[in-house]
Amino acid sequence: MKTLFLLLILSLSLFSKVDITLSHSKIKHGTTFAVILQSDKNLTQAPNVIYKNKTFQMFTINGSIKKYRVFIPVDYYSKKQKENVQVRYKSNNNLIKKNFEIEITNGKYKQNEIIKVSKGKVTLSNKNKTRSQKEYNTVYKNVYSKITPYDLTLNHPFQNPINSKITSNYGNARIYNGKTKSYHTGTDYRAKIGTNIYATNNGIIALTMNRFYLGNVIYIDHGRGAFSYYSHMDSFDIKQGQKVKKGQLIGTSGKTGRITGPHLHYALRLYNTTVDPLQYTELYNKILKLYQ
Ligand SMILES: [Zn+2]
Repeated sequence: MKTLFLLLILSLSLFSKVDITLSHSKIKHGTTFAVILQSDKNLTQAPNVIYKNKTFQMFTINGSIKKYRVFIPVDYYSKKQKENVQVRYKSNNNLIKKNFEIEITNGKYKQNEIIKVSKGKVTLSNKNKTRSQKEYNTVYKNVYSKITPYDLTLNHPFQNPINSKITSNYGNARIYNGKTKSYHTGTDYRAKIGTNIYATNNGIIALTMNRFYLGNVIYIDHGRGAFSYYSHMDSFDIKQGQKVKKGQLIGTSGKTGRITGPHLHYALRLYNTTVDPLQYTELYNKILKLYQ
């Protein structure tokens, strides 16, 4: 009996006690959820999360190999249904798979936001189509396809790019000149030409360029698949490849690109998916506070 008891204790101690938490059980399309894994033993191999057939590597929290986190984007065009979230980790050389459910709900974004721009910015000429495609390829190479495995924010919370009134939220369904339908991919802030714009967190300038729709744009890599970007800028105060600090002046806003009047379009791309930037930064800051 005593031996049996000892064996039981021994076998129990070989397995890690692992707690897995999802930040949401219901999540709006176009936003982000987080998965947190905490183990009582070191996990020498980073756990993964499988969501909609994509694998997301989890990253350490504060360098501890007992605590991991990952932020997962829910695409704007996601079906409003329950999805499986599978967390995979190794314990005593066994691959453990834990399944969770998350319900994608309607974001109830504003419908029919009407935007009037010049004709040539809605129905593109062949020259502009080629230009737009070329731009996309450059951005894909430098931003969308990249995942820097380090936390370039250095565990700092995000701030806003500017203190100003929000004039249009992420997710609004848009009609351009009564034709092209799309959705608003970022948050617009009221900003006169020449207004100072600041980096919302520590990072590296991944790309600066002039784009057909977005005008002069700055992409900041915050690491682990997250990029913030700042569009319709008038001038740049930074160079591509440069490290920037949170709150650092990166340039001034303007009215470049497809635009009705001067403003700042602030956006966030997570693992090549556009998500609500303000919901992401709020969640990021909350997770930072909760799990040190
Ligand atoms: Zn915008």
